[in-house]
Amino acid sequence: TDKLRFAVFGNPIKHSRSPLIHAAFAKQCNVPLEYRALRVELGDFERAVTAFFDAGGSGLNITVPFKEQAAALAAELTPRAARATAVNTLWRDADGVLHGDTTDGVGLVRDMVANLGWRVQGMRVLIVGAGGAVRGVLEPMMRELPDSVHIVNRTVERAETLAREFGVLGKVTAGGYETLTDRQFDLVINASSAGLQGEGPTLPAGILSERCCCYDLLYAAEPTLFMRWAAHNAAWAVSDGLGMLVEQAAEAFYVWHRQRPETQPVVQQLRGVLAAAA
Ligand code: NDP
Repeated sequence: TDKLRFAVFGNPIKHSRSPLIHAAFAKQCNVPLEYRALRVELGDFERAVTAFFDAGGSGLNITVPFKEQAAALAAELTPRAARATAVNTLWRDADGVLHGDTTDGVGLVRDMVANLGWRVQGMRVLIVGAGGAVRGVLEPMMRELPDSVHIVNRTVERAETLAREFGVLGKVTAGGYETLTDRQFDLVINASSAGLQGEGPTLPAGILSERCCCYDLLYAAEPTLFMRWAAHNAAWAVSDGLGMLVEQAAEAFYVWHRQRPETQPVVQQLRGVLAAAA
């Protein structure tokens, strides 16, 4: 068969939903493709990428912990990937040049603004966490012209580095959790992975403004810890990160195929899969 071959590389990779999402998009758009989730050993990333494309592979998604390595490996980065120094989408052009892009941040902003109808413009934004995901999110976020972005993180230095790098795009400040005392925000984004271990993040009550929206990058069959905290603190709207997951995949699909699939039916399909697995 003449199916185009795609894959996601990561470690661990068992729980990846990307094959399901791209299969659903491919069906919608009538693109003949196969998409597999492949576990790559930690020291083997560069060889595995080269081997995949040499064997005729069309495109790769990259997930934890290889996004920075992927950015270093690509010969050409899109401006947003260069700014993020992280890549989740790779392809080779006709001349054999390896290109890298990042679609996570666009995925988050599209889910918030287009799907959920939240405003970012003029809002006081709080980002909790300063890992790789936040790196990808900051540029698309600043394009929406928030009033300000404040980043808090357990390791304060990581947040400060991000504020320095992205401060050229607008007002970005950083600090430890103690800087949240007596402050209010209109949009709070949880990009800390603490919830994966069943922990916080621990945020003071009273930081949510009257119409505050709260978005968790995490998702699960049940509301996450952060979502429950937000609801308990009278957030105006609360969402998990499943829409972001599907939107980042849709943007990667667009990068490869120049077609925009419908995302909402796939979000619904995934909700069913998560509920059945719980
Ligand atoms: P990283 O590992 O790069 O960063 C993790 C962040 O969480 C760091 O800021 C880290 O702080 C913080 N953290 C971890 N454990 C704790 C804890 N116990 N207490 C306080 N802070 C903690 O991960 P990513 O940035 O790549 O991803 C962040 C989260 O977003 C992940 O849970 C991931 O699953 C999710 N994600 C979801 C996406 C989606 O499509 N919905 C897309 C991308 C990511 P410190 O710097 O101090 O270690």
